[in-house]
Amino acid sequence: MSQVSENLKSVHLKLQKKIHLHERNSDDVKIVAVSKRQPDVKIKQALESGHRLFGENRVQEATEHWAGYRDQYDDLKLHLIGPLQTNKVKEAVALFDVIETLDREKLAIALSKEMKKQGRTLPCFIQVNTGNEPQKAGIAPNELDSFIQFCREQDLNIVGLMCIPPVNEPPALHFAFLKKLADQYSLKEISMGMSADWDKAVAIGATYVRIGTGIFGAREQ
Ligand SMILES: *Cc1c(COP(=O)(O)O)cnc(C)c1O
Repeated sequence: MSQVSENLKSVHLKLQKKIHLHERNSDDVKIVAVSKRQPDVKIKQALESGHRLFGENRVQEATEHWAGYRDQYDDLKLHLIGPLQTNKVKEAVALFDVIETLDREKLAIALSKEMKKQGRTLPCFIQVNTGNEPQKAGIAPNELDSFIQFCREQDLNIVGLMCIPPVNEPPALHFAFLKKLADQYSLKEISMGMSADWDKAVAIGATYVRIGTGIFGAREQ
């Protein structure tokens, strides 16, 4: 068995234990395998072990990784988990199945226009800057209300919220905050938790965890 395959198996096992412990349903939480800056051989190993849900943070690189696998695996699901520039929207809408990083009005307008043009309605998560960090992408929590409304006026299908907590704060505080916001707006999907803290995110209500190094090992430069 490949290392990637073993890692996937072990993450699934731990996830099921967590899910059981917190009395959630076994299919409540999905694993987004983050394949950014990983070699093709490892991506192939994940596919061969049956995994179909992947996350990428850059449009260009994602196209290089995945365009060729689309025809081979028709149940493949790709999430964009990194910042999206409006000049990459066309390519992103064509490639991805879900956009997790909707974070500004200009992008909402561009996505809406392009989805209509391509006839593809991708579910979107709004990225929330839960720590109000000036350098970080995401909608400030106090602007979320009006931003959700704005996105809906653009006919975007907002299914959930996503966050990346500040590196030097306990992530659980931010996970709990994101969960509270999702509940407040009746948004079902919550994308939070990475290799180091996904178990905490599951305890608090994540429906998607984004795991890179925990599945594929260290990334290439
Ligand atoms: C890279 C990345 C991850 C995965 O991080 P790991 O620590 O390798 O699990 C998750 N979410 C986002 C947004 C990322 O950019």
